[in-house]
Amino acid sequence: MTTRRKFIQAATIGAGILSTKNLFSENLSNLREPNSAFNKPIVISTWDFGIEANIDAWKILNGNGRALDAVEAGVKVAENDLHSTSVGLAGLPDREGNTTLDACIMDENYNCGSVAFLEKIKNPISVARMVMEKTPHIMLVGAGAKQFALENGFKEDDYKNPESVKAYKEWLKESKYDPMFDMKDQHDTIGMLAMDEKNNLSGACTTSGLGFKMRGRVGDSPIIGAGLYVDNEIGAATATGVGEEVIRIAGTHLVVEMMRNGKSPYEACKAAIERMVKIRKEKSKDFQVGFIAINKSGEFGGYCLQPGFNFAVYSNNIPNQLFKADSYY
Ligand code: ASP
Repeated sequence: MTTRRKFIQAATIGAGILSTKNLFSENLSNLREPNSAFNKPIVISTWDFGIEANIDAWKILNGNGRALDAVEAGVKVAENDLHSTSVGLAGLPDREGNTTLDACIMDENYNCGSVAFLEKIKNPISVARMVMEKTPHIMLVGAGAKQFALENGFKEDDYKNPESVKAYKEWLKESKYDPMFDMKDQHDTIGMLAMDEKNNLSGACTTSGLGFKMRGRVGDSPIIGAGLYVDNEIGAATATGVGEEVIRIAGTHLVVEMMRNGKSPYEACKAAIERMVKIRKEKSKDFQVGFIAINKSGEFGGYCLQPGFNFAVYSNNIPNQLFKADSYY
């Protein structure tokens, strides 16, 4: 197997050459070593669907565009996917059968915007951006967020994903509300971080939240400092998994602060997960959380609680590749 060190040498020597792709097609991951060879522009996003999302983000980054535009365009790919059961209107509904959406966005100047418990609007990330750019506020929720969206040109959309409807009907047979079970199996948020040619960082995070959640439940994804944090002096981080656990430790803010104190993105994500385990002890075996992060040198990393979390990276040296994250358990 190709070691990380070998890859870094190859990438440094032959940036952009085809053989780099072959090296990456092996099951490389972990990123325990410094990887600043990758550098900017760079986009990194959670889970398999990050690959598709990165393509649209990269088009903007590669054309010298702004990281903020890149992350908005990137996560919209997942929001627009009519089959995604975890992001956008196609996502799994709450216990009452309604899909409710959470999203937030943050730029290089500590500007941020967020929407939570938003219904029947296709692109919550763009509403979040509009909250950031057109209001003096950071967060709008529920009916107010929807009203703001409709007043600003977004259209009501009643789309229901047949797969999510079917899953809901199955769930209704028992209507068993077992959050620990749900928390482990019914999630997948897209969080995306990018650094553009000007060295500016931005991030976006969007989700339909936990499947069959209590009506009104909001997770970490729209909460600045929990599901997403960007500090353009230091780095950026985003989260996926059980939002309650991420909020409890102000997860992504913690990751960024750890990077401020000298940790690499990988080490910072790992330290945040370790903090979670310390606090939640045995309970931490029953849920999943994953963090990804990048710093101002273009280094990136990720770490999770349970095996199975991966993330997608696209830069000049990495032709859009999935990386398997190390896990605590
Ligand atoms: N973090 C999301 C939430 O708690 C869910 C997920 O990432 O799967 O709503």
